[in-house]
Amino acid sequence: MLKRLELIGFKSFADKTRFDFHDGITAVVGPNGSGKSNVVDAVRWILGEQSAKSLRGGEMADVIFNGSASRRSLGMAEVTMTFDNARKILNSDAAEVQVTRRVYRDGTGEYLLNGQICRLKDLKELFLGSGAGPGTYCIIEQGRVDALLQSSTKDRRLIFEEAAGISRFKAKKLETLRK
Ligand code: ATP
Ligand code: MG
Repeated sequence: MLKRLELIGFKSFADKTRFDFHDGITAVVGPNGSGKSNVVDAVRWILGEQSAKSLRGGEMADVIFNGSASRRSLGMAEVTMTFDNARKILNSDAAEVQVTRRVYRDGTGEYLLNGQICRLKDLKELFLGSGAGPGTYCIIEQGRVDALLQSSTKDRRLIFEEAAGISRFKAKKLETLRK
């Protein structure tokens, strides 16, 4: 489902960097501090992560390349993720879905869905029930398995509801009831 990830000015990736994902398993390897976790942070960020702390920073603008010995810092970070949506796993009729997120030094930013400015809410709806999206199980970090095993039955149920694609309808129902 994941096709391509492009980073510009995101953390240690000052230059435009493109990752193509092919069928099967992709492994990211490299020495300590080479930016492996930054790639995962970029995925987390594009899926709508709102917590700077879980991206290992103090504030959101900390994801912007902040310079090195030989290079000035940048004013913007941009991440674009392209999904193959042939199997309609995402809430969109398009066969290919492209999501972009930008943040500027002053902390402002924007989201784009297939090249059009959109709201975070639109992205959340796009991902809901697909297992992607912020806080879902598509990224299993250290300690997460333990946390899942120790979580309450109610919290664990939420994970199954997301996997079964039910959370999408629950969110819709809640929204309707609120109106
Ligand atoms: P390890 O194997 O130790 O887990 P890693 O490959 O996961 O390492 P990362 O944590 O992804 O490494 O990368 C850390 C590097 O990214 C550090 O050198 C840090 O200085 C750099 N870095 C993080 N944020 C920024 C930023 N905003 N601008 C420039 N460089 C950054
Ligand atoms: Mg790491």
